[in-house]
Amino acid sequence: MHYKASCPNCGKKISRRFIFCEPTIYHRCRGCGTRMRMGLGGWVATVVVLALAIGCHVLCRNRVISAPAAIILLLVLLASNIWLFPYISSVQLEQPKDTAP
Ligand SMILES: [Zn+2]
Repeated sequence: MHYKASCPNCGKKISRRFIFCEPTIYHRCRGCGTRMRMGLGGWVATVVVLALAIGCHVLCRNRVISAPAAIILLLVLLASNIWLFPYISSVQLEQPKDTAP
């Protein structure tokens, strides 16, 4: 699979630690300093993971699956998200601010 979470300018990969632990909208490339943020693929992946987590909670609340099974499903979902997210999410460069008067 192609690692999509990388800098569009220099191609340096963005590590999972910075994707999930850096509490900023715009990430700064560690190689060239370019500012970028998550693209459309990242937002779609985030919405899908949240919908699956809510679905897992609803299945547990309606007693379709047991609580330990729901916890295991959530852990598998979160682990697969951490593993697959850089392959799904694209990055988008920061748009230059319009400074015209
Ligand atoms: Zn870069």
